[in-house]
Parts: sequence; structure tokens; C-alpha cells
Amino acid sequence: MAELLKGKPIADKIKENLKSQISKFTSAPKLVALQIGENQASEVYIKNQKKQAELLGIEYELKRLEGAATQKDLETVILELNKDEKVTAIIVQLPVPKHINAKALVNLINPLKDAEGMHPANLGKILLGTYSIGPCTAMGVMEILESTGINLYGKEAVCVGHSEIVGKPLSLLLVNKFATTCVCHIATGERGVLPKHVKEAEILIVAVGKAGLIKGEWIKEGAIVIDVGINRVEGKIVGDVEFDEASKKASYITPVPGGVGPLTTAILMRNVVELYKNQKHLSS
Ligand code: NAP
Repeated sequence: MAELLKGKPIADKIKENLKSQISKFTSAPKLVALQIGENQASEVYIKNQKKQAELLGIEYELKRLEGAATQKDLETVILELNKDEKVTAIIVQLPVPKHINAKALVNLINPLKDAEGMHPANLGKILLGTYSIGPCTAMGVMEILESTGINLYGKEAVCVGHSEIVGKPLSLLLVNKFATTCVCHIATGERGVLPKHVKEAEILIVAVGKAGLIKGEWIKEGAIVIDVGINRVEGKIVGDVEFDEASKKASYITPVPGGVGPLTTAILMRNVVELYKNQKHLSS
């Protein structure tokens, strides 16, 4: 039976370390979150971000903009935040209303203040292997893998999903650790070869958003399975992997909920601290 990889103890350790670092800073890092319009789901994230930031000693400001705000209005706000020396980190809360181009907004954030690590300059650093911040969920998955103590060198890793926030950056993070990495996406599924690739995976990471996509019988004996997916099925939250069947074959598996989820905010906070240190020329 697989050992459960719970995210909370790993996230708690990261936050403990951050708290100790922040206590030695001469001023508090400040994270500004931009929320455009109303969204029930982001309310939950924002509440959680605010609570966690404040517990660590990070100042948190929520800037709410009306749903009718234009791209230009938002650009003006971001350019002002870029200039404000007290603001050390900025996050644009997703989703945004349909008339807003979120990517263009993120591209306008000063890369030194990019809390989510999604600015092209910061994504480029992942490609070059010179990063100290990065996309929160992808970096969180790497922390979970590290917690197992397993050396990724030469391991067969398979990422299912190639989104810009999870699958793509994760594939580079894995390659940086010398895992032999395969990336599966919609075309892999359509060609019917997803099971073939999953069956080869010693490290399997799934970030798709389709409950039960990965069958338990496909899991390689002894594999490490990280399920990033979040799906609501009959009022219950489940991942993308058939958990019970997969648990019988894997050596480690993340639960959903309670696996990757807690890491995402912890890494956001770590990004905020790293950005602050870069801005103040403090060593890592
Ligand atoms: P996304 O942008 O929708 O990406 C999903 C990916 O899955 C795409 O690359 C898509 O390929 C691929 N895909 C779709 N059907 C497939 C199939 N049958 N076989 C193989 N690949 C397939 O989603 P995301 O933002 O990466 O999120 C993925 C899941 O993780 C969601 O359930 C989300 O809620 C969850 N999530 C969790 C956390 C957390 O903190 N735990 C954070 C972020 C996301 P194409 O683009 O080619 O269609």
C-alpha cells in the first residue's frame, strides 16, 4: 500500500523557515493582490492568502477593482504598483472577466515583483536553471517529490497535462533535476497512447482536471504518484487518478484534497520572500 504524501507538514516546514527569515528583515515584504470583479472561488484563495501572509509577517493588501474596469485601468494600476517602493510583490487573482487579458497584465508586472513567477523573464530563468522563484503549483510538486528523499537523477518522469502554470514549468523543473521527462497532453490522449506512457512512469504527475482519467491499473509498481487535479464529483473533491486502485501499486501517492493544494500558497509566500531578498540584495 502506498505511503500518503500529505502537503500540510511540508508546507508548514516551508512557512516556519519563512517566518524565521522574515523576523530578521528590517521591513515587512508587501504583497498586493489585484481582484477584478466578483468571484466566489477567488474569495476563498484571497482569504487564505491574507491569513497565511499575515501569520508570517508579510503585509497583504487586496485591491478590488470593479468588473467593468478596462484593460487600460488595470495596466495603470499595475504600473503604479511597479513604481511603489513599499510594494514588493504583486499577484493578479484569476479568473478575470472575459474582456480582460490576464496574460498581458502579468507581462506588465515588474519581474522583480512577480509573486506567481509567471512573467516570461521568470519562466525563462527556469529554462536556464537560474531561478529562485517559480510557478507555485509546479514548485510545490517539486517540494513534495523532494520530501520523499528520492533522487530524480535518471528516473522516468511523466507529466500528464502541459498547462503554462503546471505541466510545462514542471517538465523543465524535472529536466533540471536530470529526470528523463515525458510530457503528455490532449494529443497523447487522442492518439490512445496515454496508458503506454503512464505505465512507464516511475514518477507520475497528473494535472489535467478530469476525474478518473488515470486508471489505477496503469500505475507502475512502486511509482510515485502526484495528483494535482481537483474535480468535484457528487459533492466530493477528487483528483485525476483513481486513488484506491493506484494506492495498491504506488510507493507514494498524494491525497486529493490535502496533497499538492497546501503547497501552492506556501510557495507563493516563499516567492514573496525571495523577491524581497532580491530587491534588498539579501543573500538566499
Ligand atoms: P488546464 O490549463 O486546463 O490544463 C489541463 C491540461 O491537461 C492541458 O495541458 C490539456 O491539454 C491536458 N489534457 C486534457 N485532456 C487530456 C487527456 N485526455 N489526456 C492528457 N492530457 C489532457 O489546467 P491546469 O490549470 O493545469 O490545472 C489542472 C488541474 O489541476 C485542474 O484540476 C486544476 O483545478 C488543478 N490545479 C490544482 C492546483 C492545486 O493547488 N492543487 C493548482 C492548479 C491547478 P491541452 O491544453 O492540449 O488541451
